[in-house]
Order: sequence, then structure tokens, then C-alpha cells
Amino acid sequence: MQDIIKSARKLIDKYNSGEPIKIMEVCGSHTMAISRYGLRQILPENIKLISGPGCPVCVTAQNEIDAVISLAGQGITIATFGDLIRVPGNNSSLQEERAKGKDVKVFYSPLDALEYAEANPSKEVVFIGIGFETTIPSVALTIKEAYTKKIKNYSVYCLHKTMPKALEALVINGSDIQGFLLPGHVSAITGSTIYNFLVDKYKIGGVVSGFEAQDILISIIMILKNMENPKIEIQYKRVVREEGNTDAKKLIEEVFEDSDATWRGLGMIEGSGLKIRDLYSEYDAEKKFHIQKPSEQIEINGCRCGDVLMGIISPHQCPLFGKACTPVNPIGPCMVSSEGSCAAYYKYGE
Ligand code: SF4
Repeated sequence: MQDIIKSARKLIDKYNSGEPIKIMEVCGSHTMAISRYGLRQILPENIKLISGPGCPVCVTAQNEIDAVISLAGQGITIATFGDLIRVPGNNSSLQEERAKGKDVKVFYSPLDALEYAEANPSKEVVFIGIGFETTIPSVALTIKEAYTKKIKNYSVYCLHKTMPKALEALVINGSDIQGFLLPGHVSAITGSTIYNFLVDKYKIGGVVSGFEAQDILISIIMILKNMENPKIEIQYKRVVREEGNTDAKKLIEEVFEDSDATWRGLGMIEGSGLKIRDLYSEYDAEKKFHIQKPSEQIEINGCRCGDVLMGIISPHQCPLFGKACTPVNPIGPCMVSSEGSCAAYYKYGE
């Protein structure tokens, strides 16, 4: 490892202009890997890696958490991925609601939630669809399967978000980013061409990176090397192709259509989310249960997750970091999620 770091540092020095450079790692898994390998510490002073909005739990807006909690209060079985249950809403969390007797179940896969619904026809099961293009195909599959098998007690509360418009919002909002470490898992589905607009419109390059220390270091070197003539490139070629996974993209397209979405910290971004197509509307929990999201997005007491997700501050610049807010007693989602920046900084001591 030391040898890899040494040779990487030589190449970084070779392509380093010495000017301040901000590179955003978009994906939560990259944030974790960067912290785990201590990669921030080996970069020259002028090169800053900042964390972005790529943790699905973290970008789920406060009003959406509250809407899910209110759904749990109506006797509905909430089926969700694990991290979401600890995220505090304004007055409670799904974990607290479960302790009070509400039916909140954690599943590792949406297909398990559908299976549970099929085996328990007397229960109304709502799967909370959070996440990016990585998880969206498996949720689409459950909706198609429920439709085919005529399973009537399963639906999805669709809070899915897609990456390109959020990246554009960050760039437009003057975040000063000069390069992106682009997400490996999302890009395995979408391909890399969805990021071409970053170069064409904004002259900002990016590299789709793998998750090992050497993947990330090579990707940083590629970004630095192309700083004058930015490009979108793939470092993670063992998994990602330019065109992505065409079958998975077809499945997403069949079940979902583009929609606006509200992101924690970034607010409403046009076309950055998905909604369930009319053909499958009986599986759309928002329609089925007339879910009204509270209109205002309220942040929890002093939590600055929004600023962390936009790369405006580092987690340790939040006054609550490591004091009132720790993984055992998290105040915001960036400390709850296993992919959250605050959790990564806390765990690895940055
Ligand atoms: Fe929010 Fe806690 Fe992170 Fe501060 S340290 S931004 S309170 S999650």
C-alpha cells in the first residue's frame, strides 16, 4: 500500500498546478473509502476532496421522513432499508415509532418486501423507495411483478432521485468544483455519457471511479491530468461501460418517468426524481394513500447536513459534530447513514 501511495503521490505532484483545486466525491461509498484509506491526508494542501450528495438516506428531505412517519401511524406496514429508520423526523423517527408498536420492517431487498406482502395479504405494505439508479431497477422489478401477479396490498412510496440534475444544480449554485469523482455503482447502470453535459456546458471533467484506494488515487490523477482539457472518463472499467446496463435502464424507463424532487440541502430540483407511471398507479403509495408531504422543508435543530451535502462545509465544521451529534445519538441523517459524510469523518477521525 505504501508503494502505491508513493507512486500515486509522484504522479499527483507531476500534474498538480499548485492552484487551489476542489474535487467532489459524489458518492457516499467513495466518502467512506476515502476516509478509511486516509486519502485526504496524503494529498497536497491545495487539493481538497469534498463530499457530495450521493448518500441516498442523507438527501431524503425532512418532509419526506415526516410523511413516512405519518404513514406508519395509519396502521400501514412500512418496509424500508435499515439506515432510514434511525433518521430523525421533526418529532420522531421510524425506530421510535416501531418501539411504540408501529409496524416498521427492515428489508435488505425490495423483492423481500414484496414477498412479505404476498405472504401477508391482510396487511398493506408500503416499500419506501429511496436511492439512486443503483437501487431503482430492483424497485421497478417489484412493481412489475406485483402488477403481473395482481398483488394488491403492495405499493411503493417513490422518493427516488437521479444524479445528473443534482450535479448540475451544484455547479450552477457556484460550488466551485473543478472535478468530480463520479459514482461507480450508479454509473454501472446509467453509463458515463449522462455526465457529458458537465464538460459540454460547464467545462468540468470527471472520472467514474472504483472504490479501492488505488482506484480513487488513479481517478484523482486522471482528473488532474485533464484539468486543462476536461473529459468524462471511466477508471472503473471492470464494472462500468459507457452505455451502462441497457436492460436495467429499459426496466426503469418502463415503470418510472421523470419528476421533480426535493433534496435535503439542495431543495427542489426539476427533473431530478422519478414517479411511477400511470399504468402502475395502483402501486403508487402517494396516490393510494393520498400522501400530503408537508410543504415546508424544515431542518432539525442546528443540523447542517444540507451544507455538508452541498460541499459548503466539512462535517467537523458543524458545531454539533462529535458533541451533541454522534453515531450513537445522531441528530441528522449524515451521521446516521453508513454512507454519510459525518459518520465517515467521525469513524475515521478526520
Ligand atoms: Fe447534522 Fe450531525 Fe452532521 Fe452536524 S454532525 S451536520 S448535526 S449529522
